[in-house]
Amino acid sequence: MKLDNAVKIYKDFLKSKGLLYTKPREIVLREAISATWHFSADELTTQMHEHGINISRATIYRTLASMKEAGILNSVDFGHGHIHYEAPKTKAQHEHISCEKCGEVCEIQVENLEKTINSAATKAKFKHIKYTIRISGLCENCQF
Ligand SMILES: [Zn+2]
Ligand SMILES: [Zn+2]
Ligand SMILES: [Zn+2]
Repeated sequence: MKLDNAVKIYKDFLKSKGLLYTKPREIVLREAISATWHFSADELTTQMHEHGINISRATIYRTLASMKEAGILNSVDFGHGHIHYEAPKTKAQHEHISCEKCGEVCEIQVENLEKTINSAATKAKFKHIKYTIRISGLCENCQF
């Protein structure tokens, strides 16, 4: 998603909630959209503090949650006990596999997954189909 696009969607979302597009929200949005890998709220907080950006952890958490609600971020669960975020549609459709031992995450392409799920769900007469799958295992380093 392009930044301009995300800003517009987020502004409209905030407006519909009667909230303001504040400077801290704008800064969190920029950081989140430019992140290339899945990040947890904690990781983003640490990164921003390292960059000398002084926004509280609570504000970052809340802003990320509202960006997810606005559809600007996807959340993914790697079984770490916390949520990771990623900006959607920047890459091809992919699934995640996480290592049960060290938490390492890889992106994998599962052929026809979306198509298969959609056609099965359509057969059951469902619309607006969403799905979440969690794949885990042992990564190469943890197999021995
Ligand atoms: Zn994690
Ligand atoms: Zn591992
Ligand atoms: Zn991903």
